Amino acid sequence: MFDLSGKSALVTGASRGLGRAIALAFARQGADVAINYRGNAAAAEAVAAEIGAMGRRAHVVQGDTSGGREPCEAIVAATLEAFGKVDILVNNAGITRDNLMMRMDAEEWDAVIGTNLSGPFWMTRAVARPMLKARAGRIINMSSAAGRMGNPGQANYAAAKAGLIGLTKTTARELASRGITCNALAPGLIETDLTADLPAAANEALIGMTPLGYVGSVEDVAAAAVYFASDEARYVTGQVLGIDGGIVMGS
Ligand code: NAD
Repeated sequence: MFDLSGKSALVTGASRGLGRAIALAFARQGADVAINYRGNAAAAEAVAAEIGAMGRRAHVVQGDTSGGREPCEAIVAATLEAFGKVDILVNNAGITRDNLMMRMDAEEWDAVIGTNLSGPFWMTRAVARPMLKARAGRIINMSSAAGRMGNPGQANYAAAKAGLIGLTKTTARELASRGITCNALAPGLIETDLTADLPAAANEALIGMTPLGYVGSVEDVAAAAVYFASDEARYVTGQVLGIDGGIVMGS
């Protein structure tokens, strides 16, 4: 089940956190993985070394996914050069710039929309061409429970993550006839560097709203990414899967 042998995956923001866990989980299932990172080359190389030790190929690709069309095309081109194809794209790179709406400035708004929404759009544009040619592909977008239910202090983040769900469904509809699926993961509170800075009170409040009553791990999310990436998920597209302890229960 969920054998990814022979597949080539590209994960953005894969030097740490959820992206790293997904890259490692893909490799464990047999995939070769391109590890995109923005700034921390040493961390990306360390992930590549872990993948190499599993007997899989890893390729480190520097690039800022918030930079628009050109850097995103360059990231995909580098992956194609390394592996000859891209079967799986995970749009994982994301940031937060939290502030109450009335205090949020243009830089905070633009940075989060640029990274968390425009980045996945340009990455999807770039990867669609080779996937269309191959008549196969898996695109997985990292949304968030915040995008489904809103979150005080995160107007920029929630808007970007909700927008990403619209992008996911549209991509799914536009590319379905060519065997390409597109789905979104919507994690709740997961223990990573991103959430380490949350004030204790906010953390407690979120755990209190979570039916399962605890913080999730990166492996919980990586397992869902493996499923969406697999051949077994061929009939699943345009879906949003909450890995969130039940904080969002959609129909
Ligand atoms: P993280 O900060 O540990 O990792 C994010 C990674 O993305 C970092 O390595 C960062 O350098 C990279 N990145 C940021 N901007 C980039 C850019 N422009 N180009 C390339 N790389 C870039 O955070 P995480 O918790 O692992 O989050 C990963 C994704 O999951 C994000 O999209 C985040 O919004 C989402 N998410 C996280 C949680 C959580 O609770 N941790 C919950 C829901 C959704």
